[in-house]
Amino acid sequence: MAAEQVGSPTTEKILQSLHAEAKKLLASRADEPFVAHLSRLASELPGRGWQRLTPHLLHNPLPQQGRGASGPSRAELIAACTVCDEYGQIEMADGAVANCRHRNVTQPAA
Ligand SMILES: [Zn+2]
Repeated sequence: MAAEQVGSPTTEKILQSLHAEAKKLLASRADEPFVAHLSRLASELPGRGWQRLTPHLLHNPLPQQGRGASGPSRAELIAACTVCDEYGQIEMADGAVANCRHRNVTQPAA
């Protein structure tokens, strides 16, 4: 019976528990910045050899909103932005580094 030897069972298990964790977390909160933040954190796990999402989230919470009415903070924009790196910078076509304006981030109507 070698029918179940597709992929690594360990990886499968980790993915299943990660999926369950993400589902739980998203059940409590599913607004756009949080979802983006969560998926960003999840993508960092393999590089660090971690298998749990929740502790990573607890150490890197989404910055709180409500510091002034001028919209999301810089950190929130960076977390939600899929273009720039964690410093809010993007690499231009000519290799220069510039500050990202996070044009692809849809501003929450707050
Ligand atoms: Zn950006």
